[in-house]
Amino acid sequence: MCIFCEIVNKKAPASIIYEDDLSLVFKNIRPSAPIHLLIIPKKHIGSIDHINPEDELLVGHLLYVAKKVASQENLLGYKLVVNVGKEGGQEIFHLHIHLLSGWNNARDKDII
Ligand code: AMP
Ligand code: ZN
Repeated sequence: MCIFCEIVNKKAPASIIYEDDLSLVFKNIRPSAPIHLLIIPKKHIGSIDHINPEDELLVGHLLYVAKKVASQENLLGYKLVVNVGKEGGQEIFHLHIHLLSGWNNARDKDII
């Protein structure tokens, strides 16, 4: 079982800030921003490269959850990042969206 599936199944600890039937949001243990959350589907999907047609709504739901959590946490703005594949910087092969926020000046952190 992968580490994020263990978090979904409450077999590994995480600082969970949002949960619904399809998704989970928790704090990144090694944050790259003042606020660094990970949004994951409860279903194990390896990466964006592993999504199937039946996952389209689920992936859209993850973006909706990003918006909901950002509003819940009163974030004024944020970045969403998805690493895809080892060459794309992905280290954990359970699909996740990084939600980064909380800088005084977001321009300092521009990557694209
Ligand atoms: P990625 O490089 O896109 O696969 O990102 C994986 C992210 O998961 C990294 O930023 C890690 O800091 C984070 N991470 C790894 N293990 C855990 C964990 N047990 N709880 C929270 N975040 C984690
Ligand atoms: Zn998994």
